[in-house]
Amino acid sequence: MVEAPIGLFGGTFDPIHFGHLRLAEEMAEQIGLSQIRFIPAGTPPHRSRPRTEARHRLAMVELATANNARFVVDSREMAQTQLSYTVDTLHDLRRSFGLTQPLCLLLGADAFLGLSNWHRWRELFGLAHIAVAHRPGYPQSTWKDNMPEVLRDELEQRWAHPDDIKTCAAGLIVMRPITALDISATYIRDTLRAGHNPRYLIPDVVLDYIHTHQLYLPSAP
Ligand code: ATP
Ligand code: MG
Repeated sequence: MVEAPIGLFGGTFDPIHFGHLRLAEEMAEQIGLSQIRFIPAGTPPHRSRPRTEARHRLAMVELATANNARFVVDSREMAQTQLSYTVDTLHDLRRSFGLTQPLCLLLGADAFLGLSNWHRWRELFGLAHIAVAHRPGYPQSTWKDNMPEVLRDELEQRWAHPDDIKTCAAGLIVMRPITALDISATYIRDTLRAGHNPRYLIPDVVLDYIHTHQLYLPSAP
């Protein structure tokens, strides 16, 4: 099988920042992804706090990815009014791309460590590979201690080399270091609400959008 794998990158993107963009870019290079689909979460089940309206988060992802030919914005989770689970989104994508196309879910280390709490998480391995990017604050030396045993078992069985991703449609796990950027959307929201400037952590077009639409104002929740 020689189809180039497609990367799937979900997130709240509230807002999208350079940590997200470098993850997508570097994982695409390291794994040889033909495209990366950014999939902003509609109503993610693991988040309780109020979020920026979906249309704004989507618009910011569109602006930030517009000049990269490999980056595609996939708004399928936005259209849903009920909770959107990754497993359902992957079933949907699998239906679109067929059984043989390698699909690769991209996750930061923090997201991976919580994977066994996700809805029907074991089903994910039948639908896509998982590529985990290192993230500052979650050093590799601590992963084993912070990983539930059920997840560690899966990791041991599925651990693979990036070149293996293109040889089958789903089921492998790779872990890759990327340029360590200690940026989070939480920090950017807090910075804006404190009246400070998060420039150089997010693309200028995203910052312009935030100002135009008066997002993350000091008085906002
Ligand atoms: P928040 O602070 O609101 O949780 P976030 O910065 O973590 O925002 P998310 O939308 O929650 O961004 O993350 C989407 C995906 O991107 C997750 O898999 C997360 O692990 C990954 N990610 C986000 N920022 C980084 C970063 N700086 N380095 C590596 N991975 C990252
Ligand atoms: Mg996060």
